[in-house]
Amino acid sequence: MNSLYPKLIIEALEKVRYPGTGKNIVEMGMVDDNIRIEGRRVSFSLIFNRPRDPFMKSLVKSAESAILIYAGGDIDIKGNISVKTKEQPKPAANNLLSEVKNIIAIASGKGGVGKSTVSANLAVTLAAMGYRVGLLDADIFGPSIPKMFGIEDARPVMKKIGERDLMLPIEKYGVKVLSIGFFVNPEDALVWRGAMASNALKQLITDADWGALDYFLLDLPPGTSDIHLTLVQTLAVTGVVIVTTPQDVALADARKGINMFIGEKVRVPVLGLIENMAWFTPAELPENRYYIFGRGGGQRLAEEMKTPLLGQIPIVQSICESGDAGVPVALSETFTGEALRQLSVQFVEQVQFRNETSEATKRVEVRKGM
Ligand code: ADP
Repeated sequence: MNSLYPKLIIEALEKVRYPGTGKNIVEMGMVDDNIRIEGRRVSFSLIFNRPRDPFMKSLVKSAESAILIYAGGDIDIKGNISVKTKEQPKPAANNLLSEVKNIIAIASGKGGVGKSTVSANLAVTLAAMGYRVGLLDADIFGPSIPKMFGIEDARPVMKKIGERDLMLPIEKYGVKVLSIGFFVNPEDALVWRGAMASNALKQLITDADWGALDYFLLDLPPGTSDIHLTLVQTLAVTGVVIVTTPQDVALADARKGINMFIGEKVRVPVLGLIENMAWFTPAELPENRYYIFGRGGGQRLAEEMKTPLLGQIPIVQSICESGDAGVPVALSETFTGEALRQLSVQFVEQVQFRNETSEATKRVEVRKGM
């Protein structure tokens, strides 16, 4: 009978190879340094890289047998080898807004096409559908969400949560709202430049108590800028919705916007296009449609960019008036309200479809070992 000491155990374990590598489990660093020997009882741990290593059980058995043979049989090892797995590194995706399921950017190439109108109506409809919704008005050049929600005079208060002082979003129509407009005069907003604006926006995201949300909507500034890049690179954005009018100049800018989002630097999926101001129907001639900004532009761009057209919104006086009055029209029992609610249903379906597709892609990648 050999006397037992750790070196002997190590020599025994050097006989155990990890299948397919040609290396033994000692040189692979799989044997925990802490080998305990109490009389004839030996115990230690094997360290695996992955929690579901396919050879875990068979290697434990092989290690037991190797030790029994090497030490001459009289040894208490069965059941004494435990397994550990290396700490899995945290996924690279940021942990910001970890309780938020979907972060959706709403963007446009040009200003004035109705991006904030769409954001406001989408937010209140999603909230009415029972989702938990946050809306960040990041439109540094014309923050209009406070007016559209009738909360221009609101000022968010700070609350100590744990160790941190966090801003409490203003709640209206079931939506948690923060706007850059709460903190700057509309006249001053234009002079804000890149880094300053990005930092202010980051604070509205990181230093606010958004809590658990199903949808966090970001009403982005129009165009493509550093602010867009910073925001989409800081946050794990689920997708972007592009708002455009059917007018050629708006479509050209929308195309630029889409190309930025799907480009190498940003890589955010485009969930779809919304064509606003698609036509005008006068109240007294409800059958008539006047295509003031051109016809079918949204559909053409959607086909060209291979993205769905999520909806068309006509020019309707009540959309403008209700925006000014601080009550988004989607809350009204009108034809326009119903059309906007339909658009929100399309939107939810598109987000769910994207999430399912990306889950399926991830599963395939895992299977391929990517
Ligand atoms: P953006 O956010 O793209 O700058 P807004 O949503 O602020 O655009 O819209 C600009 C103006 O046009 C607002 O006064 C808004 O009420 C009005 N508006 C937007 N969409 C419509 C529409 N479909 N019908 C009538 N007025 C609209």
